[in-house]
Amino acid sequence: MTAALRDTRTISLEDEQATVKGWVQEIRNLGGISFIVIRDRYGTLQVTAPKKKIEPELFQTLTTLPRESVVAVTGTVKKSDQTALGLELIPSALEVYAEAMSPLPLGVVDKVHVEPDTRLNNRFMDMRRPEIRAVFELKSLLMDLIGEAMQEMDFVQVNTPKLVSSGAEGGSTLFQVDYFGKPAYLAQSPQLYKQMLMSTGLDRVFEMGPAFRAEHSNTVRHVSEFMSFDGEMSWIQSQEDVMHTIESIMAYVFPAMAERGAKHLEILGKEIVAPKMPFPILRYQDCLEMLASKGMQLKDGDDLGTEGEKLIGEIMAEEGHDMYWIVEYPELEKPFYIMEKEGTPYSFSFDLDYKGQEISSGGQREHRYEQLVERMRAKGLDPDSFHSYLDAFRYGMPPHGGWGIGVERLLVKMLDLPNIREAIIFPRDINRLTP
Ligand code: ATP
Ligand code: MG
Repeated sequence: MTAALRDTRTISLEDEQATVKGWVQEIRNLGGISFIVIRDRYGTLQVTAPKKKIEPELFQTLTTLPRESVVAVTGTVKKSDQTALGLELIPSALEVYAEAMSPLPLGVVDKVHVEPDTRLNNRFMDMRRPEIRAVFELKSLLMDLIGEAMQEMDFVQVNTPKLVSSGAEGGSTLFQVDYFGKPAYLAQSPQLYKQMLMSTGLDRVFEMGPAFRAEHSNTVRHVSEFMSFDGEMSWIQSQEDVMHTIESIMAYVFPAMAERGAKHLEILGKEIVAPKMPFPILRYQDCLEMLASKGMQLKDGDDLGTEGEKLIGEIMAEEGHDMYWIVEYPELEKPFYIMEKEGTPYSFSFDLDYKGQEISSGGQREHRYEQLVERMRAKGLDPDSFHSYLDAFRYGMPPHGGWGIGVERLLVKMLDLPNIREAIIFPRDINRLTP
């Protein structure tokens, strides 16, 4: 009889013979009997090897395998009250695919503190820990759910170039590359392209893709490459239409994360709490007053800054709100493509903050060609270097608005992770380009 190929999720007492493939997590040799723990993506399985009942050679190999070697074990499935699965495998055959070298660069099950850099330098090993992998299972789910929510709302998924000829979000964070002898840049966001698409008839688009920013500071919420979830929609009456859309996305994503991510959340020992809807709307001016009441004096036009955002997060948390809007930023603070609130120094723009940190910026865009060119000039930009973008505004552009959400920032706050690097498999920052 050939043994059925199983993993730790599918193996059951109904299997008489089974083969399981995985890593050798632990070996306990008690002399007369040995226990070998095999780990795969879904969990662990105990292989129980009674010395007298199995072939000496097999016993010898099994009990002397270096930890973390990769193997296939075949054996008889037996009931067991001692293991989490309620069963164990009595081995009859072993295939060693790859022996691990020792010592290991870091332990998988040892309960010792490992420096973050050591973990990131050896990410392949770090991710053998279930609680590290769980974050990325949840990130994958989050991105799937965003896709589902967008599909329900008739958004078309698009891909825009990541090699571009001009930036959209300010020169200081542009990465320059040599493009066949000419300067080009890594895209900081899909901003210009998703707006151009509004003139095509695809009136609701979204993209999830990498965005690149040469962030010179070392913070727990900035990296040089992040996953940007961008949306752009036409025919809006005001930016509130965009804000409602984002609320609908969150209303879809949060409960589904809790439900479909339950197993991974359990591994992490975390619970996902949906933010209260609708999200309260604070004006930029309200924020200045709130901060002043806490002793933080900012001038009109100042950036709220890390500390300011955090303080507002604390005030809002006391009122029971994790997510809230900050609207009416001074026009001077916002990029050229944002629409001004005429006759005021403000703009039709918003930030969405979650637990004291910005996770999204968006707003209504300037769709009128003359005004757009005017704004570019006022910001010291040369309209000529944006001509292919501007062309899309010359022959009929609907009113539109949109947003960019940092996927990792959203996940970090959802799971209360301490650092954005915990939500990126191979993070890129000012000090890190490998692995
Ligand atoms: P911050 O002020 O926090 O640096 P930003 O206002 O410069 O962010 P935007 O240009 O508004 O960022 O980008 C939209 C979203 O993309 C942000 O709200 C954030 O979620 C995400 N984001 C921007 N820069 C980074 C980064 N360096 N690392 C991770 N996520 C980022
Ligand atoms: Mg922003």
